Amino acid sequence: MNTLLKGITAVLEDGDKYKTEVCDICISGERLERIGSSDGFNADRVIDCKDKLAVPGLINAHTHSYMSLFRNSADDLMFHDWLFGRIMPMEDKLTQDDLYWGTKLACLEMIKTGTTAFLDMNIAREAVTRAISESGLKAVISRGLTGNGRDDKGGLARIEDTLYDMRTYGDNKRLKFMMGPHAIYTTDREYLELCMDKAAEYGLGINIHLSESVKEVEDCISEHGCSPVEYLDNIGMFKFHTVAAHCVQLSDGDIKILADRGVYTVTNPISNAKLGNGFARVPDMLRAGVKLALGTDSAGSNNTLNMFSDMMFMALCHKGQRRDAATVTAHEVLRAATKTGAEALGLSDTGTLKEGMKADIAILDTMCPSLQPTNDLVAALCYSVNGSEVDTVIVDGEIIMENKNLPHMDEERIYYECNKAMKRIDG
Ligand SMILES: [Zn+2]
Repeated sequence: MNTLLKGITAVLEDGDKYKTEVCDICISGERLERIGSSDGFNADRVIDCKDKLAVPGLINAHTHSYMSLFRNSADDLMFHDWLFGRIMPMEDKLTQDDLYWGTKLACLEMIKTGTTAFLDMNIAREAVTRAISESGLKAVISRGLTGNGRDDKGGLARIEDTLYDMRTYGDNKRLKFMMGPHAIYTTDREYLELCMDKAAEYGLGINIHLSESVKEVEDCISEHGCSPVEYLDNIGMFKFHTVAAHCVQLSDGDIKILADRGVYTVTNPISNAKLGNGFARVPDMLRAGVKLALGTDSAGSNNTLNMFSDMMFMALCHKGQRRDAATVTAHEVLRAATKTGAEALGLSDTGTLKEGMKADIAILDTMCPSLQPTNDLVAALCYSVNGSEVDTVIVDGEIIMENKNLPHMDEERIYYECNKAMKRIDG
């Protein structure tokens, strides 16, 4: 299938910044064949894209999709009360069906707000992966792993969940997998080493929460005599492709280690603020050359999976906190939400609109108040867009939402099943 997006305004890379350009985008199968003129391109379908803006599909580099069930049900609680007092007791009541429908809701929201790929941490065998596979989205899936020692039956079963999903969905080109040790406070050293052994055996990256709260750092220092970043560095985790979510509480030394080891960090500014964990040192991390992606975290602590909300908050919160309006720019935020996110997920062929890359595109309707007048459209993506402008989403050249219609999704059924589940769990 060859598709031509005719006369579209595209957000393109311009050195380490972005520019917009009116052009034709020629999609051949899964890939962007040409961006510029469509002369001589044989299109099966031509879409008139006047008044449309093509943005690289957004990459949500940290979320827990099934937790969309918990949206607006665990609010105004500090992180540890939120996790151990509220979220985990609800999680104990989840069935495989609940996990499936919660994930469907997450995928629906992500597509509607222009996300094309995400890094997920879940607590299921199969149900979450099945829901994602039906959505048309790309995902890197990690089963959240908690355990103590190499013989912990529960810990071993959770690792087996990862391998089961890899075997079952190995043929789906849009799905990849990582090992997902949850955090240093829900695993011990032996179990983390077991996770690393499995990552080496199967050639997988590692997805972990890191230095999210002050308590995590203080407990680590009293138990191990070093910071969480130093601890993971000492046990050799950063020899792997590692994606570390949050990284809120970092010392100068931690930032140097993350930069030197090439760790992909993911900032989750709304979740970190909402749970009272603070603001990551994003300006310092960027200046130090730390690879920084952007994630929403779950709808249980955000409370949306709308990347445009986090883009705006990422741009604004550091300006306010540092009293410096230039400290994090719209261009840096867009890069975190697209290109660096794709790299964090290990996807080298997406995250930017460039010939040869996969055709993963969010198309926004510019005939909306938030995009008018059409001044600086890169600034608009950070400072005025709210996500409702997204009307079409393309993944691997396949249109998975067109003019806000989603052929893969039964929206009413998703809402019905999620409400039914939450009435049982927390009614
Ligand atoms: Zn998380």
